[in-house]
Amino acid sequence: MLYVSEETRTNDGLPIDRSEELKAEALELIPGVTQTNSKGPGRWVQGVSPAFLERAAGSRVWDVDGNEYVDYLMACGPVVLGHCYPPVTEAVEEQLGDGTTFSKPHPLEVRVARRIVDMVPCAEMVRFGKNGNDVTAAAARLARAYTGRDVVATHGYHGWQDVYAAASGSPGVPEALEELTEPFEWNDLGSVERIFERHPDDVAAIVTTPMVWDEPSDGFLTGLREIADREDALLVFDEVLTGFRFAPGGAQEYFDVTPDLACFAKAIANGYPLSALAGRRDVMSLLDGEVNFSLTYGGETLSLAAAAATLDVLANDPVHDHIFDVGRELKRGYNDVAAAHGLADRTSCRGLAPFTKVEFREEDGEHDPAALSLFMQECHRDGVLFADSHLPTYSHTDDDVEETLRVYDAAMGTVATAIEDDAVTERLDGRPVGSPVGQ
Ligand code: PMP
Repeated sequence: MLYVSEETRTNDGLPIDRSEELKAEALELIPGVTQTNSKGPGRWVQGVSPAFLERAAGSRVWDVDGNEYVDYLMACGPVVLGHCYPPVTEAVEEQLGDGTTFSKPHPLEVRVARRIVDMVPCAEMVRFGKNGNDVTAAAARLARAYTGRDVVATHGYHGWQDVYAAASGSPGVPEALEELTEPFEWNDLGSVERIFERHPDDVAAIVTTPMVWDEPSDGFLTGLREIADREDALLVFDEVLTGFRFAPGGAQEYFDVTPDLACFAKAIANGYPLSALAGRRDVMSLLDGEVNFSLTYGGETLSLAAAAATLDVLANDPVHDHIFDVGRELKRGYNDVAAAHGLADRTSCRGLAPFTKVEFREEDGEHDPAALSLFMQECHRDGVLFADSHLPTYSHTDDDVEETLRVYDAAMGTVATAIEDDAVTERLDGRPVGSPVGQ
């Protein structure tokens, strides 16, 4: 593999003056500088990484200083076809002329619900929200109402709402709620069984993401299905990230395990704000007014028009084959580059192709934020917007992947030399990932 020479660096010197100015102003006005935790400056190399982006097309984004990047974050997952994917943009533009929000339901609600019922195994009825949070919180309430029970057994991140934050003892969440949300371990059915033993006849639902960085072990998801059935609890898959990304019918189709309810957001509308709760008719029917779930913007039409166009493409084009090809190649290429630089034991890329994650480890196996930060710094300077994960899209090309792996090769070389010289921190020109947010 070729090293990228200093002369050919895409964002040589990476001027980020405008980004830094905006960050300074935002520090005065917006707590945390961001509306989304993972977009905040503390998750990046402050002083080197761009803090603000302002334009995107296909697989590319541009920051406020005009630097161009191959994007692998895709707004944390929603953009599955690529930024500004033309059929989606056209559908939104067409709807814009006809109105955005009405005082009665719009036909698009029926059209998109029909499409989801056709695509998603568990879906017999559908309700819409805006963010993933809307529908994960609704799923818990619905499960509690349907079963008449209070406890939610859960694994993974499902949003900031009290029902899920209760398990982590978040400030502002009443302690009284803590015992109603019980976390279990991934790939450990015993930890799930113990929750049911601790709360006999009081567990309403098992709520989990169907995939994390480690694939579900053989029998884990079917085991959850069996426990839920045996205990008359509901199985809820949070497919906010996996939905429409792993397969047209989501991870439930990919792993062939059908939950009672599933939550979708992100990829459903290629970046427009829409989420959906889908599931069994007898459960979903309670949302006809018995269980309150009501949002002024639930039927907002621009996002629904985007969803209709996105789901058409996802259902008819080889999107998932492409995403798997790109994701597999990035993962393979990353791990090859790490091995070529003698760092296979210090860093690796893991996960299934549609969503892979990179880790850097110290010699003792502990997370190594400094090495990750140095790798990120070099990537950003060479035009690859990488944090620690890959969310490939239908718009990423073979050339993007080739360019990225060249950049990874150079960045890994820099990290390998820095580790050898015991100089990782000195070679960082900004503050490592995880530093407090500030100028
Ligand atoms: N569930 C999962 C699996 C998620 O990844 C997220 C967002 N990262 C959420 C729920 C919450 O979704 P939102 O931020 O759209 O409310």
